[in-house]
Amino acid sequence: MEDYIVIGCGFAGAVVARQLAEKGKKVLILEQRDHIGGNAYDEKDSHGILVHKYGPHIFHTEKKRVFDYLSRFTDWYGYSHEVVGKVGDKLLPIPFNLNALELVYGKEKAKQLQKILEEQYGTEVKVPILELRKDKRPEVWQLAEYVYQNVFLKYTMKQWGKAPEEIDPSVSGRVPVFLSRDNRYFQDTWQGMPKEGYTALFQRLLNYPGITVQLSVPAEKVLSFDRESGRVYFEGKEYGGTIIYTGAIDELFGCCYGRLPYRSLDFVFEYYPEEFYQSHGVVNYTVSEDYTRITEFKRLTGQICEGTTIIKEYPRNYTGEAGQKPYYAIQNKENQALYEKYKSLAKCFPRLYMLGRLAEYKYYNMDAIADRALELAESLY
Ligand code: UDP
Repeated sequence: MEDYIVIGCGFAGAVVARQLAEKGKKVLILEQRDHIGGNAYDEKDSHGILVHKYGPHIFHTEKKRVFDYLSRFTDWYGYSHEVVGKVGDKLLPIPFNLNALELVYGKEKAKQLQKILEEQYGTEVKVPILELRKDKRPEVWQLAEYVYQNVFLKYTMKQWGKAPEEIDPSVSGRVPVFLSRDNRYFQDTWQGMPKEGYTALFQRLLNYPGITVQLSVPAEKVLSFDRESGRVYFEGKEYGGTIIYTGAIDELFGCCYGRLPYRSLDFVFEYYPEEFYQSHGVVNYTVSEDYTRITEFKRLTGQICEGTTIIKEYPRNYTGEAGQKPYYAIQNKENQALYEKYKSLAKCFPRLYMLGRLAEYKYYNMDAIADRALELAESLY
């Protein structure tokens, strides 16, 4: 009998499983998809180009222990992520920064605006758009309005079906206005792409005595939870070990309080027999088109190959329909309250732990999930 059953084989599940196995525990991972790696999974398409099946994943972190930990399982391709937003015929650096300011207003006016902004906020600082919009000085107000209308409003409407002020400020705050010439999307000390891809990283992470991975096994087929007694049954027999669940928390309990809202995405892949499709790894369509962004994989991975594959992301409501996937928790007070109800339910089971984006209903980046998984494993030794 395994000491641990881990549900889900993305960053959360794979890291916690490895840590426990290194302590001599037996760990069974049950994954409902037919592959490891969760949403970070990558594979070569029919043209031999390495693509991220569930949208672009760019690793970046300030957490040295996470970087050091993952570096045990991969070398890195030193990619610094840069994004531009397509506004009319302009490609503006995103986050909107001093270079973008110059492209929109010209050198002279941009200089004046920079001075006015720096007086209030300082240099090399990040200012959330919703904060900048509160600035009453006419020049700043006008600039904030430009950025709001051309960078945030329509992109956010597409992504969330809501305006920026209707979503949690931590979400729009992920992409601030940056009073800097630095065009990088992330300023983290460590950033890059796993040299041979994420799937290879996961293969090494999971290749350890004591770890068994079963693919194409939906947890609800083999596990059942009895709330009254707090008992858990695995394949019909009472299971006395510990369960770490990394899937959607509402689905674990049959959505008994109603579905937690998530945003989903449809991905459309396109191949072009050209060297490159666009000038940057990611181009955000911040005012036009139905998709939010186009990513060109070989610009992220540095792969040298003939032709190029891109991906377009079309945001969708998540309804739970077969084949749809929940990618983003929609954080607000009401949804948090619903989440808390499921969390209390999970507490009926003393040896059940919730871990990751879906189980904790949070907007975690990959490094934050890996960090949480390391923490959870430590707390269990
Ligand atoms: N955002 C925006 N315009 C952009 C980029 C981001 O309005 O050009 C907003 C949008 O609401 C988005 C959020 O900022 O959902 C966070 O963006 P991020 O790039 O971090 O999203 P992710 O890569 O996690 O999908």
